[in-house]
Amino acid sequence: MEDIKFFSTNGKSKSVLFKEALLKGQAPDLGLYMPEYIPTLSTKFFNDIKKMDYWEIAYQVLKQFVKIPEMKLKNILQDAYDFEIPLEKVYDKKYIMRLDRGPTCSFKDFAARTMARLMKYYLQNENHELIILTATSGDTGSAVANAFHNLEGIKVVVLFPEKEVSENQRKQMTTLGNNIFPLSVDGKFDDCQAIVKRAFADSDLSELKLSSANSINIGRLLPQTIYYFYAYSRLAENNEKIVFSIPSGNFGDMMGGILAKKMGLPIAKFIIATNENDEFPSFLNGGSYRPIVPSKACISNAMNVGHPSNLARLFNFYDGEMDEKGNTIKQPKIDKMRNDIFSVSVSDDETRETIRDIYKKYNVVLEPHGATGWNGLERYLKEEEASLCVSLETAHPSKFPEEIENTIGIKPQLAKAISELKNKVEKYEKISNDYDIFKEWLLRM
Ligand SMILES: *Cc1c(COP(=O)(O)O)cnc(C)c1O
Repeated sequence: MEDIKFFSTNGKSKSVLFKEALLKGQAPDLGLYMPEYIPTLSTKFFNDIKKMDYWEIAYQVLKQFVKIPEMKLKNILQDAYDFEIPLEKVYDKKYIMRLDRGPTCSFKDFAARTMARLMKYYLQNENHELIILTATSGDTGSAVANAFHNLEGIKVVVLFPEKEVSENQRKQMTTLGNNIFPLSVDGKFDDCQAIVKRAFADSDLSELKLSSANSINIGRLLPQTIYYFYAYSRLAENNEKIVFSIPSGNFGDMMGGILAKKMGLPIAKFIIATNENDEFPSFLNGGSYRPIVPSKACISNAMNVGHPSNLARLFNFYDGEMDEKGNTIKQPKIDKMRNDIFSVSVSDDETRETIRDIYKKYNVVLEPHGATGWNGLERYLKEEEASLCVSLETAHPSKFPEEIENTIGIKPQLAKAISELKNKVEKYEKISNDYDIFKEWLLRM
């Protein structure tokens, strides 16, 4: 079989193999890479999946797209996935999947760790340095910085909004040093993302080998398909379909789920829960799409996104087209989309209520992102029947200690990775929200 190529959602750049899509991040026409062909996994795979470890499932899925020698890929995946993935029963067949046990305690570790190792693999015979540019609303930056820390030949520049990240999130980026360069921007997440996007499009910077580690990178997206398979392998009986609830910001997590479904995973519905940045639920429930400018600062801060960059991929998947600015070029098939996806916006008050509720009723501790997902699931279950449901908890509660203590009166148990931050020294630079200043800094570094 021929290797799968990746096309750009903007339709102007030529299709490329995985290596190029991974190292470029974004296509030259500013579109996002998507696989030209999505294979359906075999019945044998679905029969055997119950016996596989997480990394083995990852191998079976990723080898469809990533053509590197078997042992190398297996080693990468075994090394990337060395932490537990609790599936916590709340009641009946309603579960929380905790994707918060990686080194930075967010689900982004799943993708970032694999992506970093794949990049290192492909770069080992090249003699130029790669600069990973990434904008973060909190968790991407720390997951990416941690995943690339001390990898030779790669520098990481992380732009984060000064006032929108928590102290712990900041420390996870600013205490690493060596090849990690955190920049605090006097602005919002969208400003950071805009600066990064401009840098990629800036021909003055073409001498620098820039790449992206945001969820626009296909190398981030593919590993985000795997925990959906994993939940199925541990929970589903007799091929039953699962409802997944996904607390969403840039929609990379959701696109992972969509790809998994296309590969044959029996998924009944995706619940896409956003915070008060409700541009997507408004679109799905009403019709026309309008980004939220500026984005709203909610307590689930990693989801403070006024225009999800992966929406271009979702539109493409449903036969529509969206450009990099969020303009709808062609409407997607909205009925089909509604068939697959249920979407709600959850306010900060509702998020806190959910944290209180699920703790009181079931003794389950959720942080604001996971609570948004659980709230979405509860709202779905008021309207629809469903058996097996899995709501994703995307961060560890101890990343948000004040919020949790104020809401339910207990201090969440500290994750080890968080408690270790306490005595580390922070180092980072501050810049104003100005592209030219950033550009100068980049050229000087
Ligand atoms: C990034 C993040 C999200 C949102 O994920 P997307 O793929 O951007 O939709 C949700 N929760 C947490 C904790 C995150 O870090």
